[in-house]
Amino acid sequence: SDDRTASAPGARVEFRGLRRAFGSTVALDGLDLTIEPGELVALLGPSGCGKTTALRVVAGFEQPDSGEVLVDGEDITRVPANRRDAGMVFQSYSLFPNLSARDNVAFGLRVRKVGAAQRRERAAELLDLVGLPDHGDRYPHQMSGGQQQRVALARALALRPRVLLLDEPLSALDAKVRANLRDEIRRLQLSLGITTVFVTHDQEEALSMADRVAVLNAGRLEQCAAPAELYERPATPFVAEFVGTMNRLPGRITDSGLVEVAGARLPVDGPVPTATREVEVLVRPENVTAAADPEGTATVVSASFFGAVTRLHIDLPGGTSVKADLPSRDAGELAPGARARVGLAERPMLVVARSA
Ligand code: ATP
Repeated sequence: SDDRTASAPGARVEFRGLRRAFGSTVALDGLDLTIEPGELVALLGPSGCGKTTALRVVAGFEQPDSGEVLVDGEDITRVPANRRDAGMVFQSYSLFPNLSARDNVAFGLRVRKVGAAQRRERAAELLDLVGLPDHGDRYPHQMSGGQQQRVALARALALRPRVLLLDEPLSALDAKVRANLRDEIRRLQLSLGITTVFVTHDQEEALSMADRVAVLNAGRLEQCAAPAELYERPATPFVAEFVGTMNRLPGRITDSGLVEVAGARLPVDGPVPTATREVEVLVRPENVTAAADPEGTATVVSASFFGAVTRLHIDLPGGTSVKADLPSRDAGELAPGARARVGLAERPMLVVARSA
């Protein structure tokens, strides 16, 4: 196609039962995940959960011990990396240092024997696309980290891949550059309609960029859902605590099936353990209410001002403490040492057996 931004529509990518061990370390432990055409899915999880390994399996840099990767229904598990329809951007320093930005971008075209004039034209289009129209002659050491990553992105897109693989492409950049590039990658990805798998350990990055976020834990998928759903309806305690901040409060199930927690008795949305009445209740700080009250049994320990929100650490009777996020305008009387009354603004989202 001659259209400067056009690429083939994004492909569907399926992980099926992927397993990969390195000696006794199990990096992928039966990973199942389907990424729809044109979707941006972030793989999120703690260090060592298998994110990078999963990405490298799609790229063809890593062979799984068992399981398959399908692209548009075709099993590509044994297809060599250079014959896969995927472009990849790494964390940093992946440009060829001895090549100009233009030649970096055109590298893959050259390997595929595209003629010089066409290479030059395509490289110019791509540098334009990533906002660096005047940087074709620069060498990597003459560009900032953010500019280098833009060139790396242009290089990854040069062959019009149907899958884009991004391995922590923003982690080496400072906060402001990172936020800009985050928005730009997303805009570009949407306009190209390219299926994108984005590895990150930064939950804010995952939640703000992705159509869906796949949370990995020890080589398995815990949950894959749209950002708001993941935050509001975490499927497991692991997801609940990994995404956002969570309080774990001791609670008790009453005879009538309510949960007694932080002095309140509330109905529960979702399942409740049946084997025990002694439970833990997972509650977001923004769903904890607090009001100054000289008769209150809770004590404010600290108050941290974050602009619109103030985070309070509050001690409850019985040795528990809770984090509460209040609009700063409501937190004025809740200075350290103040007595308070604490409650919950919403039904608890997860109730688990106490030892869990
Ligand atoms: P991080 O966020 O720290 O990059 P990750 O979630 O991307 O972690 P992987 O890099 O996929 O995790 O690694 C998963 C596990 O497999 C880790 O315990 C890692 O040490 C191990 N591992 C990965 N690659 C190799 C390798 N080539 N040889 C040995 N062990 C490896």
